[in-house]
Amino acid sequence: MKKVLVLAEVRDGQLRNVSLEALAAAQIIAEGGEVVAGVFGAGAAAHAAILGQHGAASVYTAEHEALAQYTPDAYAQAVTQLIEFVSPDAVVLGHTAIGRDVAPRVAARLGFGLVSDVTGVEAGPVFVRPIYAGKAFQKRKFNDGKVFITIRPNNIAVGEADASKTASVVPVDLEIKDLRTIVKEVVSKTSGKVDLSEAKVIISGGRGVKSAEGFQPLYELAEVLGAAVGASRGACDADYCDYSMQIGQTGKVVTPDLYIACGISGAIQHLAGMSSSKIIVAINKDPEAPIFQIADYGIVGDLFEVVPLLTAEFKKV
Ligand code: FAD
Repeated sequence: MKKVLVLAEVRDGQLRNVSLEALAAAQIIAEGGEVVAGVFGAGAAAHAAILGQHGAASVYTAEHEALAQYTPDAYAQAVTQLIEFVSPDAVVLGHTAIGRDVAPRVAARLGFGLVSDVTGVEAGPVFVRPIYAGKAFQKRKFNDGKVFITIRPNNIAVGEADASKTASVVPVDLEIKDLRTIVKEVVSKTSGKVDLSEAKVIISGGRGVKSAEGFQPLYELAEVLGAAVGASRGACDADYCDYSMQIGQTGKVVTPDLYIACGISGAIQHLAGMSSSKIIVAINKDPEAPIFQIADYGIVGDLFEVVPLLTAEFKKV
């Protein structure tokens, strides 16, 4: 039986879904032990109810002004102090931009191990994670010592909230000092209303989209499906869209229920970011395009004809 601390993440005032996935993973890792959560920033306590309904026995909150926006040094100090206070055997958090940054920093500082980018947790606990850019999966067991686990979003099923469960809220005083960085302004570049890394449906465009204007039909389809819009690096390099939309080995890793690749050839570096999508649809005018080898459904055709047809059909539903 272990004590497991979940570090919950809040974005735009909302608890991120990956934090609930981390709580689900934590239940398996704890093996009947205690699962607790930590959440930082203004209004942190407001998230305790949801965390409690998803299995956190206690929620540690810290509302320090230095934690209003993420900075590596402030968060590393905060996470380190919280771990020293809670003394967990394992710390679980999302494999997000913040999780990928803070987990190795604090793991190194405290002498914890790190199992990153976990897509599944089995009893044991055994951690499943992709290797070789998603071409194979590795199972890892951590026998000794304390460990950080980062969970890839959209892979671990979140259980139903249990309204009868409540977490005790424990405010923690943190001493955050000698900061070398401060956030003066946040300029957010988003590809649409839906966050790419947690989107259930993604419409993605490649060099076949041919221009920035060529993305317009993809945005229209995304609007109808409530989807996010992503891109290949080919499209980003050609300046058709912003790099924040890039999916792949050097971009975002996504696991939506539905991924529609439009005018994307299917290079291995692109597949590394999307091959674990549950259903992949490829639209490409070249029947030999490698993307068709991993697609569940393929449409050989001109995306500028196919995408508006899909939009029109989905509008009828
Ligand atoms: P292309 O390979 O040029 O494919 C365009 C496709 O569009 C073709 O298959 C074509 O048949 C089709 N097409 C053209 N017109 C139409 C039309 N009208 N209708 C339908 N189909 C059409 N790439 C990533 O995506 N993400 C990464 O993170 C990434 N990281 C990389 C890291 C490294 C170290 C390196 C070396 C490369 C990386 N790449 C990455 C680049 C990758 O190798 C490919 O160059 C890139 O993915 C190609 O983008 P693309 O499929 O959009 O373009």
